Amino acid sequence: MTARRKSAVRKAAGARLKSSAARAQTSKKKKAGKKKAAGRKKSPKKKKSATKKAARKKAARKKYAPKKAAAKKSARKKAAQKKATRKKTSPKRGSTAKKAARKKAAGARRPAGRKKTAAKKAASRRAPRSSGKSSTATASTNPPVLVKAPKKVRPYRLPEDVRPLSTRIHVDVDPQRSPAFEGRVTIDLMLEKRRRSVVLHASDLELFDAHLTLTGPSETAISKPLAGKLVPKPSFEAVEIEFERPLPPGPARLELGFRGTLRSDLCGFYGAEVDGRRFGFTQLEATDARKFFPCFDEPAMKCRWRLSVTTARDNAVVSNGRVVRTQIHRAGRKTLHFAPTPPLSSYLVALAVGELEQSRAENSGPTRIRVWHVPGKGHLTELALEAARETLKRLEAYFDLPYPYSKLDLVAVPDFEFGAMENAGAVFFRETLLLMNPATVTLAEKKRAAEVICHELAHMWYGNLVTMAWWDDLWLNEAFATWMAFAIVDEWQPGWKMWQEFQHDRAAAMRQDSLRNTHPIYTVVRTPEDANENFDLITYEKGASVVRMVERYLGEDVFREGVRLYIRRHAESNTVAADLWNALGEAAEEKVEPVVRAWIEQEGYPIVRIARKVSDGDAVIELTQERFFENPDAAGPQSGERWPIPWVGRIGTGEPGKSRTVRHLLSRKRSRIPAEGADLTFVYGNADEGGFIRPAHDPDILQDLLEDIDCLTPVERQGFVEHQWALVRSGRAEVASLLDLVASLGRDEDPDVLSTVRAPLATMVRRLAPDVSAHTPGRLRAWIEVYYGAQVDELGWVPQIDEPDERRLRRAVVLDLVGRIGQATSVLARASERCAAYLSDRTSLDPNLADPVVAMAAATGGEALFNAYLSAMRSADTSQEKRRFLLGLGGFEKQALVQRALELSLTDDVPTQDVVTLLARMFENRAAAEPTWGFIQKSWDQLQRRVPPLLASRLIAATPALKTPEYRNQVARFFKTHPLAGSTRALKQALERFDWYAGFRERAGPQLDKYLTG
Ligand SMILES: [Zn+2]
Repeated sequence: MTARRKSAVRKAAGARLKSSAARAQTSKKKKAGKKKAAGRKKSPKKKKSATKKAARKKAARKKYAPKKAAAKKSARKKAAQKKATRKKTSPKRGSTAKKAARKKAAGARRPAGRKKTAAKKAASRRAPRSSGKSSTATASTNPPVLVKAPKKVRPYRLPEDVRPLSTRIHVDVDPQRSPAFEGRVTIDLMLEKRRRSVVLHASDLELFDAHLTLTGPSETAISKPLAGKLVPKPSFEAVEIEFERPLPPGPARLELGFRGTLRSDLCGFYGAEVDGRRFGFTQLEATDARKFFPCFDEPAMKCRWRLSVTTARDNAVVSNGRVVRTQIHRAGRKTLHFAPTPPLSSYLVALAVGELEQSRAENSGPTRIRVWHVPGKGHLTELALEAARETLKRLEAYFDLPYPYSKLDLVAVPDFEFGAMENAGAVFFRETLLLMNPATVTLAEKKRAAEVICHELAHMWYGNLVTMAWWDDLWLNEAFATWMAFAIVDEWQPGWKMWQEFQHDRAAAMRQDSLRNTHPIYTVVRTPEDANENFDLITYEKGASVVRMVERYLGEDVFREGVRLYIRRHAESNTVAADLWNALGEAAEEKVEPVVRAWIEQEGYPIVRIARKVSDGDAVIELTQERFFENPDAAGPQSGERWPIPWVGRIGTGEPGKSRTVRHLLSRKRSRIPAEGADLTFVYGNADEGGFIRPAHDPDILQDLLEDIDCLTPVERQGFVEHQWALVRSGRAEVASLLDLVASLGRDEDPDVLSTVRAPLATMVRRLAPDVSAHTPGRLRAWIEVYYGAQVDELGWVPQIDEPDERRLRRAVVLDLVGRIGQATSVLARASERCAAYLSDRTSLDPNLADPVVAMAAATGGEALFNAYLSAMRSADTSQEKRRFLLGLGGFEKQALVQRALELSLTDDVPTQDVVTLLARMFENRAAAEPTWGFIQKSWDQLQRRVPPLLASRLIAATPALKTPEYRNQVARFFKTHPLAGSTRALKQALERFDWYAGFRERAGPQLDKYLTG
């Protein structure tokens, strides 16, 4: 799944980061690991299931095996080549210091060195791991089990001794005629123990007519179906089917009828309406398959699915497999039969029904790719088809394994909760991420769409073919797909500089992870709400950053071999994290787990202080780590957490514009590394921003960095701003240190670097400055114009013919900085003129300027402009344009217009998927934040129905814009009495942000005043 993210004005530009290498390895360790695995005993109880599972695995392996031997061989060959290359290039790259550091790092990597690390402590805190089954099954090939045994009591989990083998589902639905649907499931089961009842998931469904037939060879004589008694267990979203006589172990077939209604909350099987046409779509992740049909709704309970759908003849129906048979009935009806799927988890089943149209088919090898959409949008499908084709072939090459499903349908869903969903063979998207007009789409929108398409396609292997055993390892799916999308799109379009784009997302994850109320990437999941809460920045963006850090540590080639091994070994099965570490470790011929585990199992991340010292007459760099908290009051007594940090610093060599990197595995609190003092003109403490750490430079180093800032890469300049801003927020640095840095970037020409200064400036102008004095906002805005206004003058408003993307994007960023944040009157006046022209002719403006222009004009606009936005939104040709004007409506400052925008959120003008987006934008609008909060409280009964569960936390996350302790208490009280499922953590985080601001205001307010007036 792809979470929705705010799309800021961003650009492109990014250095493809080269991975390092230098791996010490001992085959001894590998052998020891294998021995240990062989020594593990299986519990006798599990033996039978393990044998079956092993047989299934063997079958799957066979299917995916042909290249296995070759892969291993090629891994070895590549490792050898790599060694040779390393040798060859080392004189150029390596210095004595580097070699020494590497040697030291290799020593520090030894598992023994981790004896007392916090990761181990974390392990003892660690939760019960999910299914004993999958871990039993994988244990035969994999060494140590890293987690404690599962707890016995698992009230939200299904019994493990009943497993589905295949499920047939027939559904009768015609959304146009009625929201009601009816169906029947036929599930072939394996009963591993004697039992009187079968439990499976079902929620908000009417169930009827349950029968079970014993189908084992010895049962042929008594194949008469047994009627089941349905006993609902609503608190566990399950139903127990009881039988009059005990069921013997062996195969059985369960049949069950069900009725339901298309939902309105964008989950399960739900309805969406466009221009009077009604459609039905599924969104079953995480635990909503049970709201569509009764099933074994747990990711490890994979089975084959065979769907058939009866509906009106005019309807198109899209599901995971190809249509293999069509039956035409009387009265304008038909039944479509779909090919059975390979083994899949229930959350990956898909169905779309309604008058959808399809694009032309595009082929990528043998795979047929099509885009499905509501009528009239066929001209917007080409960019998505291209992105799907280009990324699919690169993914196949990366995994060295063909696309695992029979066809690829991409479905543009007009109302969709998340960004996109990776249903096997039938991926669903928000329209904004799939349908684009090449003439008006912005580069930022195009990049985001390509990234999301690639993310979902990466899941076809990583998530669908190999699936996490339980939701606690959701990161196995999401961190990888996130990382891989950036890597693959970067390979396809190097000019888009995707890793600079990624830096913005990583920054958001770092902000969230510096709260006390964060969570580890691996998180205990007991309930469906717990599962939903994990679709967040930590699982996706922090997870992807850690994956990237590991890739850089192991080297690209070794890492890829490890991933290939992991996918082949576990195809059509389920995994836990240890399976991945083992595969990567085999490819690397060293243990990976000691380095990565703390990053996955510990919450938070380290700040690394970088100081220059002299030791025995030699210059050294001293590194000191501790956990970083944004709110110093939240830190409490030092907790002593440590991370094994594969640290890479950039060091100035004394030659103008030249630098080199130095590496060190920092496992303890403090470490010193040789610095070769004479040439050390500067040190930057997170080269290429490859580490999920915040470097904190001592003042003298900071001064050197400001003087040598051009020596840093763009992604490092981005990181430098973000880290310095975090240090200011946490009270570790003065406001002056940040504003000096921002001033020094006033002539920077990289749009990503420029857009990084936006967040600190926006916070200071909109939140902090008005709390300092009546004059402070004006002074700060003038300061912004002084340092960034020159770029506005240089770039003007109209691009030259054939102007490069980078310059167009830079123009958009600086206009936004000087106009929207700095509120320079000349820019705002010009923006209003440009907006008027844009409203009558969409081609009159460079598409990249559309977002900032629409937003700037709204801030000063009146009723006529509001009406113009509203009608532009209603008649928009593309969903990107619709979204732009919707957000524009949230940017007006006149109170009557603020109220009108709020009222809109209760009408059909704003689809359910966009309600939270609009309200969150209005919290950002200083003139609208308080009225928005008043409106939410007053209209909660109506509004609540329009806030789907996964978006609720985003609404809560916007409330700290209200700033004061009084509002904090109101927010706390309100959501305590009006709780939103799956938002417990989001509320704690929001309250923590309110508390942080109270301290920040006291610390930073006087510093800002002094800086501007001193
Ligand atoms: Zn995903």
